[in-house]
Amino acid sequence: MNTRRPRFPADLTASPNGNGRGPGATAKTSLKPSGPVSPVSGHSMPSSASAVSATAPRGLGLDSLAVRERMVSRLVEQGLSSKRVAEAMRQVERHRFVDSALVNQAYEDTSLPIGLGQTISKPNVVGRMLDLLVQAPVFTQSAHPSGRLAGRVLEVGTGCGYQAAVLSHLFAEVYSMERLKGLHEKARDNLRAFRLANVHLLLGDGMLGFPRGAPYAAIISAAGGDDVPSNWTDQLVVGGRLVAPCTQKNGQQALVVVDKTESGLTHSVLEAVHFVPLKSGLA
Ligand code: SAH
Repeated sequence: MNTRRPRFPADLTASPNGNGRGPGATAKTSLKPSGPVSPVSGHSMPSSASAVSATAPRGLGLDSLAVRERMVSRLVEQGLSSKRVAEAMRQVERHRFVDSALVNQAYEDTSLPIGLGQTISKPNVVGRMLDLLVQAPVFTQSAHPSGRLAGRVLEVGTGCGYQAAVLSHLFAEVYSMERLKGLHEKARDNLRAFRLANVHLLLGDGMLGFPRGAPYAAIISAAGGDDVPSNWTDQLVVGGRLVAPCTQKNGQQALVVVDKTESGLTHSVLEAVHFVPLKSGLA
């Protein structure tokens, strides 16, 4: 196991030639601390959250647990089976991750724009992927003292940070990578008030995985490529599981589950999905 770990949160900055692509990218990549995420003091909230409370209709109570309970009950009706996932999604206030103009849609089953041409996945899809992820064989073996699932999870595509927050309630350690600096910073701002000590935000090309945090019990991608990068399966533990959208031969994206077993990898192709593209390099 890798014993040298960087301090987090850290930036995986691009190689000096700036493109971060190709086989040489790993060697040239430098790891540079970007400074700690300091918790917001007192009762103040990050600017996006203040904007939320200003625009949230009075009485509707987007802050209220009941709103999230309603969303989760609908997901359970639609097939969400894991009580852990349901509980984690009940805890995270989705409206704190979307722009103030969209807060009224935050608990609807819809994907929403988060800037830079990217989207936050709809709750149904988040629930479905996490439902699959927590069923990895490795999680039947041991529990973490915190009550979370023991082991580390790698998320590719931090986006606005919503799913990273949900993951933080499920797994002992969360490593979340984003290639767009603007969104990496947005997620850091969004997550600051939640004080999630087990979430490590990384600016880097998730196609390379993050070897220094490996091995992972689970890997989840919020962006879809033509294949599952071998870096990801290399960085999974035996008994671990990867869930990602992947373009199939017919040109359609589908959800793919890869399990790493003693005897190799098993692939299962599930339902059609629509995710933003997985791209290499930083921007
Ligand atoms: N989980 C996110 C969803 C983000 S959308 C949320 O809860 O908001 C998918 C994200 O994947 C986008 O932000 C996109 O920039 C990012 N992405 C695409 N390719 C990537 C790569 N190679 N490495 C890291 N992030 C990537």
